[in-house]
Amino acid sequence: MKFEFIGGYSEVGKNMTLVSIGDESVVLDMGLYLPAVVNHLEGNINKMSRDELIKLGAIPDDNSIDKKSVNGIVFGHAHLDHIGAAPYLAKKYRCDFFGTAYTLGILKTLFDDKKLRLRNRFIEIKFDSKYRLCGNFSIEFRHMTHSIMDAAMTVIHTSEGKIAYSNDYKIDYKPVLVSAFDNNLFSELAPVKVLVLDSLYGDVQNKTPSESEAREMLKREFSKLSGNRNAIIVTTFASHIPRLKSIVEYGRTLGRKIVFLGRSLHKYVEVAKELNMVDFADVDIIGYRNLINKKLKEISKNRDKYIIVCTGNQGEKGSVLVRMAEDETPFEFRGDDVVIFSCRTIPTIETIENRERLEGILKGRNVQMIKDVHVSGHGHQGDARILIELLKPEHIILSHGPPDKVKGNREVALKLGYTDRNVHIVQDGEILEI
Ligand SMILES: [Zn+2]
Repeated sequence: MKFEFIGGYSEVGKNMTLVSIGDESVVLDMGLYLPAVVNHLEGNINKMSRDELIKLGAIPDDNSIDKKSVNGIVFGHAHLDHIGAAPYLAKKYRCDFFGTAYTLGILKTLFDDKKLRLRNRFIEIKFDSKYRLCGNFSIEFRHMTHSIMDAAMTVIHTSEGKIAYSNDYKIDYKPVLVSAFDNNLFSELAPVKVLVLDSLYGDVQNKTPSESEAREMLKREFSKLSGNRNAIIVTTFASHIPRLKSIVEYGRTLGRKIVFLGRSLHKYVEVAKELNMVDFADVDIIGYRNLINKKLKEISKNRDKYIIVCTGNQGEKGSVLVRMAEDETPFEFRGDDVVIFSCRTIPTIETIENRERLEGILKGRNVQMIKDVHVSGHGHQGDARILIELLKPEHIILSHGPPDKVKGNREVALKLGYTDRNVHIVQDGEILEI
């Protein structure tokens, strides 16, 4: 089998991998490089062409792929760094798209945003059921704990052995809203031929804490706010439905009305509601800018009656929190207003600068900031060790970052008895035959 690393191996983002056997092949993920999108283009890329975006480094460069040979494009989960490039790249492929229900639900909204009508079919695959793609490949999803609904480890059954594409994952035995990581689901696949291993935090020791710890942190912060009369604002990743659930549940205990403000929040939450994954019936969810402004006007007159949950956790330009801070909305920050950041700043130069700028403004208004109320959705070294021991791969390919970032997991593998012949650190554009 042959791996071609199209994107996500020289940077954190724009994940895309091609696997081929003979003249058949399958594409895994088609993601955006978010820093390029958020910063250079201020999020507005809809009018740009495929070629312009490739040149900017915002989407993977798939020019080397013989599109006719591709039998399917498989999306493992709905984060934009895994599906966001599809509306720009997919039209050159004639094959179908595969994903779980939530992943396809979000993917469809991306195609709708661009008003794209493609001939390709969206085919939902339920967990633990196999789909025969072509002579050499059958695909299957195994429920994986991560930080988005319906996340999957993609398993490709081939005539030459199984490929486990675990990009992204964490091992969470006590998650919120979704079922726990189940060792048996993975050990029964062992031994696999190849494991593609999300190694974004391969440089961090121990195990990633469970989402239930983030829930406890939120509980503590909300309990301290009991009796507070100031404005309370919470910001987190729009796609993190389990986190939003915790925020809503502890927010309710303060007796305030909860409102979700922001276009991406609206998108991710509405798809989850349609699939009956959450019940946010008592939450107002507003996506359009003029309606958000109208709501903020109302809130500013009754600041102690609401909890605002909004976009802007990374200080992104155009997000609701940044527009509020920059006085582009009818809401005015006052001293002792509270902003909870239920996130971690993504470690890219652009994001760090954006967050510093936002925090600078909030500090200038004497806003109380509560930061890092968060645990990661990506596995650390402890998670990598568990997954390797369960799947017993012959080969391990480290993914989701440049060589320097991912190399920590090489140490994990070497300690488990692997050698550099079987642990692969690669870069975009490389080809690996196994
Ligand atoms: Zn992800």
